[in-house]
Amino acid sequence: MTASSTPDTPLRVALVTGSTSGIGAAIARRLRREGYAVVLHSRSSADTGRAMAAELVQATYVQADLALETDRIRLVDEAMGAWGQLDVLVNNAGISRVIPHGDLAAATSAVWHELHEVNVVAPFHLVALAEPALRAAAQRGRAGSVVNISSHAGVRPKGASIPYAVSKASLNHLTRLLALSLGPDIRVNAVAPGLVDTPLTADWTAAQALWRERAPMHRAASADDIAHAVAMLVASDYLTGEVLLSDGGLNLT
Ligand code: NAD
Repeated sequence: MTASSTPDTPLRVALVTGSTSGIGAAIARRLRREGYAVVLHSRSSADTGRAMAAELVQATYVQADLALETDRIRLVDEAMGAWGQLDVLVNNAGISRVIPHGDLAAATSAVWHELHEVNVVAPFHLVALAEPALRAAAQRGRAGSVVNISSHAGVRPKGASIPYAVSKASLNHLTRLLALSLGPDIRVNAVAPGLVDTPLTADWTAAQALWRERAPMHRAASADDIAHAVAMLVASDYLTGEVLLSDGGLNLT
């Protein structure tokens, strides 16, 4: 890892949570291609994270369990320790539980608490911890940028389970509330994917058939499609409070 910048290309740094796999890895690679130094993160796959950091060159890796407050604090501290600044925070890490919506007994309090902690409380806490650094980005000339990875399940009455869908609806509302509070120094947006082809959804055959047959784009998103949507929001100097539904048009059917 080397931190370098020239007067023509000032260093900009992005922290992407859950970025050793799936959508997060595609976002980290995309932002790296666009010139950002990246802080990679995952809960457990440290070897993959370190290998990716070496491959991407201007990158560092931090392992942290976002269900733990102490780990969230350490993550932001280590990101700042590595680069001395933070311009972009992508709250991508998230967990899902597949529970039929009619099976109320299976959606226990423990499931609700676990999903709420990782999908809602952790993103809020990371923004709070990163706020001074993101405001400092505005002092250098460009507003700090937060992008939360939500889900179409937070927009429509759908999703892997009711606790998951509600956690993502909360994340969407959180996005708007933070955009209102933190502008103009910090922009806050969300991308709400429909089905995305990742290892997580490899055996979701019914959902894959639904997207193939009904969505105007006739396919699920790739992780790169979602990374592109994130990069668009990050590149803007104006958009804030947006929840960008990225479901290939399925919501129109
Ligand atoms: P993934 O399982 O590959 O990625 C999830 C990441 O979150 C992993 O890197 C994991 O380490 C991290 N994570 C989970 N719990 C954590 C914890 N306690 N502490 C730290 N990190 C933790 O799955 P993905 O499909 O790439 O999902 C990425 C995001 O996209 C999630 O927020 C998910 O809800 C959302 N999403 C995915 C889809 C889809 O179809 N794949 C659709 C809509 C939304």
